[in-house]
Amino acid sequence: MVAAANAKDVARTVDFAREHRLRLVVKGGGHSYQGTSNAADSLLIWTRSMRDITLHDAFVPAGCEGRLKPEPAVTVGAGALWGHVYDAVTTRGGRYVQGGGCLTVGVAGLVQGGGFGNFSKKFGTAAASLLQAEVVTADGVVRIANACSHPDLFWGLKGGGGGSLGVVTSLTLRTHELPDQFGVIRATVTASSDAAFKALIGEFIAFSADHLVSEHWGETVAFHGDNTLTISMLFQGMNRDAAARAWQPFFDWIADTAHGCTTAPPQVLGVPARHFWDAGFIMQHAPGALKADDRPGASTANVFWADNVGEAGQYLYGYTSTWLPVALLTQAQRGRLIDALFGGTRQWTVSLHFNKGLAGAPADALNATRDTPMNPAVLDAFALAIISGEGAPAFPGMSGHEPDEAKGRRYATRIAQASQTLRTIVHGPGTYLSESNFFEADWQHANGLAARSCFPPSPGTSVLSPSSKRSARRQKTEPRFPAEPLNH
Ligand SMILES: Cc1cc2nc3c(=O)[nH]c(=O)nc-3n(C[C@H](O)[C@H](O)[C@H](O)COP(=O)(O)OP(=O)(O)OC[C@H]3O[C@@H](n4cnc5c(N)ncnc54)[C@H](O)[C@@H]3O)c2cc1C
Repeated sequence: MVAAANAKDVARTVDFAREHRLRLVVKGGGHSYQGTSNAADSLLIWTRSMRDITLHDAFVPAGCEGRLKPEPAVTVGAGALWGHVYDAVTTRGGRYVQGGGCLTVGVAGLVQGGGFGNFSKKFGTAAASLLQAEVVTADGVVRIANACSHPDLFWGLKGGGGGSLGVVTSLTLRTHELPDQFGVIRATVTASSDAAFKALIGEFIAFSADHLVSEHWGETVAFHGDNTLTISMLFQGMNRDAAARAWQPFFDWIADTAHGCTTAPPQVLGVPARHFWDAGFIMQHAPGALKADDRPGASTANVFWADNVGEAGQYLYGYTSTWLPVALLTQAQRGRLIDALFGGTRQWTVSLHFNKGLAGAPADALNATRDTPMNPAVLDAFALAIISGEGAPAFPGMSGHEPDEAKGRRYATRIAQASQTLRTIVHGPGTYLSESNFFEADWQHANGLAARSCFPPSPGTSVLSPSSKRSARRQKTEPRFPAEPLNH
């Protein structure tokens, strides 16, 4: 493994690997669900030392002078993690950069997969804000890729998959004006019967069509097999009261006892956007939400959402994602969607990630995302449905920690069935490369790779990692079933 300190180290390592015909892999944040940042018998380039962060007031991509107007931006070393970038750009810099939701995800891996954060419905994918990349290609040359220099390489880096086209050494991303407020609304709604749950799904879908397909909303709701709906949505560009008012019609419907549903009052919180990733502020006002790196001498900026602890080393049983077209919310098609969501939950929890479908986004975010290799299904999807299940860390051959293969296969079957139920209502289902099924049968189309004529990064043509770019992704909610409760 080479712990690269700069682009020159990377170039020399690429040369060495090419000359000695070694399999080469790159590791940044290490959050690949497919495990594509590791490979047996490979030479690994580890980028974690390359984590400088520089803010610009007026950045123009090299060679674009006079062609593109200067704009605020941030240049980030390929080994940086999003938590550190948010600390520099938002907490200390008062600006917004589109990154990922999880603070420990790596910048280069996320951007090369497209990349969604909590507020992508407003700002588009992370790749849509990419202005320039420094990248070492397989010939060992350090290149600057942007709209004016190597534009084809630049385009491919904006979602073609980590490691497909070269080793990225730094990225420059547009920064945006920071909204005033960010906030969260949380609730758990329980239905008293299958019929009441189906009605609840119908009411939620109607509410979504009227209110949630807009730049203000992001994040997740999950429909569970025990007839509950968990809501964990984030908002931007409105204050707490406006957010609570927006959801009032939905909670009024639940309050009507005739509908057979109950919930505790929803929790609605707003915070000045500048404090959203401010570790000191969060630890003071929401103790327990963040965890800190407890190694001696660790930086105080090394923090991560406490919820993510359970994901470290998790053993995935199955993982699928599907973009749901906004047309499914129309009166004419809504019935099919409700049936499919209810049917899916009879097998497994179905979660909808509103921030990962860009229907309702502003035109500039849509246009910038359109100019990337991502499956165009993202543009008119109201949400990305993720169906996945996982257990505690497990290691074959380690006594007391072996995976339970029988359970894994049983759960994998149910996850696949739930996904199939949902996919029957989507024509040519699209999936998010970084968070999709490792075993996706029609991966060329589902990932959008065959939908574009440039850079088809099939396993055979990948310049760095010959492993497939098919993928997998977590979900944040525990699947729940009355028939066979999961014990993880
Ligand atoms: C807990 C968790 C939370 C997540 N949250 C989100 C989320 O909120 N939004 C979202 O969109 N996705 C999310 N993801 C998915 C994540 O975006 C992708 O897995 C992403 O590829 C991770 O990047 P990384 O650098 O952390 O991972 P790595 O495993 O280090 O890299 C991922 C891929 O990119 C390649 N790569 C890494 N660095 C470079 C480089 N410098 N040059 C070339 N290739 C490189 C690797 O070889 C590998 O193929 C999450 C994943 C996890 C595990």
